Amino acid sequence: MSRVYNFSAGPAVLPEEVLTEAAAEMLDYNGNGMSVMEMSHRSKAFQEIIGSAEADLRELLGIPGNYKVLFLQGGASQQFAMIPMNLMKNRVADYIVTGQWSKKAYAEAAKYGTANKIASSEDKTYSYIPDCTDLPVSDDADYVYICENNTIYGTKFKQLPDTKGKTLVADVSSCFLSEPVDVTKYGVIYGGVQKNVGPAGVVIVIIREDLITDDVLPGTPTMLQYKTHADAGSLYNTPPAYGIYICGKVFRWLKRQGGLAAMKKRNEKKAKILYDYLDASRMFSGTVEAKDRSLMNVPFITGIPELDAKFVEEAKAAGFENLKGHRSVGGMRASIYNAMPEEGVEALVAFMKKFEEENL
Ligand code: PMP
Repeated sequence: MSRVYNFSAGPAVLPEEVLTEAAAEMLDYNGNGMSVMEMSHRSKAFQEIIGSAEADLRELLGIPGNYKVLFLQGGASQQFAMIPMNLMKNRVADYIVTGQWSKKAYAEAAKYGTANKIASSEDKTYSYIPDCTDLPVSDDADYVYICENNTIYGTKFKQLPDTKGKTLVADVSSCFLSEPVDVTKYGVIYGGVQKNVGPAGVVIVIIREDLITDDVLPGTPTMLQYKTHADAGSLYNTPPAYGIYICGKVFRWLKRQGGLAAMKKRNEKKAKILYDYLDASRMFSGTVEAKDRSLMNVPFITGIPELDAKFVEEAKAAGFENLKGHRSVGGMRASIYNAMPEEGVEALVAFMKKFEEENL
């Protein structure tokens, strides 16, 4: 067996310990004589799996009792519609557009009501986070929406926007569980798990209870109402059971690592190794404003597309996978999620130095 260093933006690297445990339990989960994949979602064994996954997530994030945790499907993209369908009581919402994902969410919301773009960083190819200390928040806005970490561009809100009392909704797909979070600052926190938390197919929604009501937009399908899933403890219909089981294992792994404060330290250390090198390099450079740099997704370029392509190819041959930047921006991107070990980042930097020496 040989495992590569996988810098994919998602689906992404998972902790090896989690994969090893899942492999050992594949044919017989905990004496049940079957895999979790083959198990009824109404069984006692699965009830325990989803129950302890939720309890561990609550502990990790310090989720208060007045928030529900929902394990849903449809990817993060389905939330682009579920959020307005469930929360747009006044049919007005404010969006801060800092990349492709918030742009898509904004466009989706505009199908259901008035979506206002109250700040954007599109003018400089989303290479920064706009000043959000005094935004023109609409008086009748049902919520203010952000994408907290921009997977494609590699920026992150270091400070949450001042929503002037309005409910904050955040897509945290690519920074989920990378650091401690004050859940009380948000009305809704959601993310697809396939970056930092588990396999594709699960989306986790953490939502304040008062936002879960029957008062949704007319015609909202039963499956797209938060209340449907909240009332049924995420078991209204068959949930993405195997994915939830792996997420549960990742939560336990995170607890063993010392929780989210320890992960933040580790993530800062890993990111610093890469950013320090990028800042010093005569060949490679980062593409976003230093103050807004993501700890999770690190885009960089040489400035010469042919050299970028050569680098990606040679890196792949050397065991560094998925370093090509998003198809919309080119260049390179190293995603260094929780499960990427520090050695992986050090090895990447050593490889980049060698490439720089050979090609400058
Ligand atoms: N939001 C963010 C921040 C993302 O990075 C992505 C996927 N890369 C999405 C939303 C869309 O996720 P999904 O493919 O699960 O719909």
